[in-house]
Order: sequence, then structure tokens, then C-alpha cells
Amino acid sequence: MPESIQYTDMDFISKRVQNLASSATLAMSQKSSELRAQGVDVINLSVGEPDFPTPAHIKAAACKAIDDNFSFYTPVPGYMSLRKAVADKLSRENGLSFAPEQIVVSTGAKQALCNVILSTVNPGDEVIIPTPAWVSYIEMVKLAEGHAVTVPTGIDADFKVSPEQLRAAITPRTRMIMLCSPSNPTGSVYTRDELQALIDVLAPHPEIIILADEIYEHINYTGSFTSLGSFPETADRTVIINGVSKAYAMTGWRIGYCAAPLAIAKACTKLQGQYTSGASSIAQKAAEAAYTGSQQCVADMCAAFRRRRDLVVELASKIPGFRVNVPKGAFYLFPEVSAVLGKRFGDRVIATSGDLAMYLLEEAHVATVDGAAFGAPGYIRFSYATSDDNLREAMARIDAAIRRLN
Ligand code: PMP
Ligand code: GLU
Repeated sequence: MPESIQYTDMDFISKRVQNLASSATLAMSQKSSELRAQGVDVINLSVGEPDFPTPAHIKAAACKAIDDNFSFYTPVPGYMSLRKAVADKLSRENGLSFAPEQIVVSTGAKQALCNVILSTVNPGDEVIIPTPAWVSYIEMVKLAEGHAVTVPTGIDADFKVSPEQLRAAITPRTRMIMLCSPSNPTGSVYTRDELQALIDVLAPHPEIIILADEIYEHINYTGSFTSLGSFPETADRTVIINGVSKAYAMTGWRIGYCAAPLAIAKACTKLQGQYTSGASSIAQKAAEAAYTGSQQCVADMCAAFRRRRDLVVELASKIPGFRVNVPKGAFYLFPEVSAVLGKRFGDRVIATSGDLAMYLLEEAHVATVDGAAFGAPGYIRFSYATSDDNLREAMARIDAAIRRLN
């Protein structure tokens, strides 16, 4: 190398990663931890994770796994006992028929999603993503060099994509559609009829894979859940993503899975075998206990989230300039805030929802996430997976901060 050439740090970073956005949910949460470390009393409504500890019987199973020396490499797609427990769950709760061989256990649903996308999307393939959508979907498609085709929805449509919108988004290059119900970040839950209408559009397109993110399945206040895998017309090309993070308050244990057509499951196993191997042995044994043990903990946590949903909807609806719908699942509220945009706090102009999220962090000490990170500028996201006291205090602080704008 000629000595005169100067290299910057970024020269060492691949274009692939340079082009990738950082996770805004994790970044905002990190920022709020930093402020906390400086002694600022921040209420963190940015990251979405249950605030409950993992149920005792699940923790006990993990301790037993340690004592029983589950300390060796695990099979790449997961222990057969866990894959069987997942197949049983899919049959029992969702009426779906998957063989254990079609289940691939991963380090969180995040890896399961990324495995499926990297295993099926070729450069230039289009992936339809109705927005608002969880921050990582578009970035994972970018990693696969696919093209994310976003289809915007809004609060007036309860954030649901219509069959007409879906039909208009399909092209000869469409490879996949990603759907999340109950949704992060909106909390919307598609009814069976709404899903059927989307399936009717997809049925004549056997080349399109349906990637169904059902991680919030059990945080659902409607009393009914329809898995996208339950439509016979498209079942053979539907991939289900789920895991223990949300339903069993196990975000840190990092266990998720895909249930997929066998060829896709094998491809995910091949991929995972080259870059992470099987997921943690101890966490897999804990997840097995989650699926095979009593499900009372799931119902109890859902009831607590529902109560908080009612509280936060009531309080957020009173904040001037916030338009709020009633989320039917997950633990997020996604108010439309465009009436606040253009207002000022001294010299500071709140021009975008990103400015608003930053203003709320710095002036109200409440961490939220800019809707733009979910492909929906003009909105912000709160997670209400925190105590009633925190929620009351956070909403009071936001309300006061908004009223200080002029
Ligand atoms: N999908 C959605 C919609 C999520 O909100 C999350 C939470 N991060 C995930 C997938 C990934 O979950 P996990 O913790 O299992 O990786
Ligand atoms: N799903 C959570 C969220 O959206 C966790 C953070 C993340 O992985 O994005 O806040």
C-alpha cells in the first residue's frame, strides 16, 4: 500500500453495514440508560419488553438444566424436545400441523426472522411491508439485498393494510409479504375476516411467501387470535415466527423460532449452522418448560397489560394534539402527533415527530420512539409495559411538556 493513502475508520466497514440503520428502539433505550446513569430520572417507554420477571417454574427449569449439565453445544435447529413442544403448541393453540423437523429454534425471534429472510430473498426481490412496521423488518430485507416495498397505513384505517392496497403492491418481483398481528408498533389485531381478505389476494400468487410475525399472539385483548398459518389456500408457503420473549417475559433468554415449509427450515438450519450454531442450551430448556407448563402466567400478564392499556389510552387521549386509537393487542400506543408539529419551545422548533421524541426525552424525561423509525413519521410510540405509577407520571410529564409549546 502506498504510504500516502489515509484510511478513515469507516473504510473498514462494509457497505452492507454502512447502509444499515441502527435499531431506533434499542438506541433510544440506550440513550435513556445513559441519562439515568447521569442521575436524570428518565421514564423509559421506548423499548418494548414485559416488565415482569420470568415465571418461577421457567426459572426452575433453567436451574435444573444447569445442574443436569445441559452445557454442551445444542443441535443447530434446537433440542428435539423443544421442537416437539413448539409443534404441540402450534397444534393445540393454533390448529396448525407442523412436524418438529419444520421448527428451527433461534436466538430470539429476531434471528428467526432474519434467517428466513436471508434464506429466501434474492438480491432485487421485493418484500411487501405494510407500515407502520417494526424497525428491524426493512433493515433485514436490506441485509438480504432485497427491496422493501412499504405500504403505508394510518390511524384512520386502524393501521391495517387493505386488500386493494396489497393487490396494488404486488409485482412480478414480489417474493414475500411480512405481516405482524398483534402489531408492533400499533397494537392493531387483524380479524379472521380481514386476514381472509388478504389471503384471497395472495392465493393466486404461489410464488409469494407469507412471513407472519406472531410474537405478540398472547398479548391480545380481543379474545380471539387467528394465525396466518391457518388458511389452507396458502398454508404451504406461510412461515410462522414466534418465541418466548413477550408471552413469558423472557426477552433476555433469547429464544424464538420459525415454523416453516421443510425446505425453508433446512435452509435456516444451514445458515444458522454457519454463523451462530444452536441457541443457548439453558434457555432452550427454560423455553420448553414455558410451552409445556401451566399457561396461567400468560393470562395473568395479559390481564395486567390490558388494564394498563385502558389507563394509558385514557390519559394519552387528554394530551393536546395527540390522536389515539385503542390498541387491541401488544403493549404499544402509537398516537398521531401531527397537530403538535411546527410548535416551538423557546428557540426550539418541533418540526418532526423525531424532534418531538427528542424534546420529550430532554424536557419531560420520558423516552419514546419516533414513528419515522417504523416508517410512519408524524407518530410516536410508547411502550406501556411498565407500572401504573410510571405510566401516570409519564403521561403527566408529557402533557405538561406539550402544554409548554406554543
Ligand atoms: N418481532 C417483533 C414485532 C418484535 O417486537 C420483537 C421484539 N424485539 C421481535 C420480533 C423479536 O423478539 P425476540 O426478543 O424474540 O428477538
Ligand atoms: N421489540 C422491542 C421493541 O420494539 C424490543 C427492541 C427491539 O429489539 O427492537 O421495542
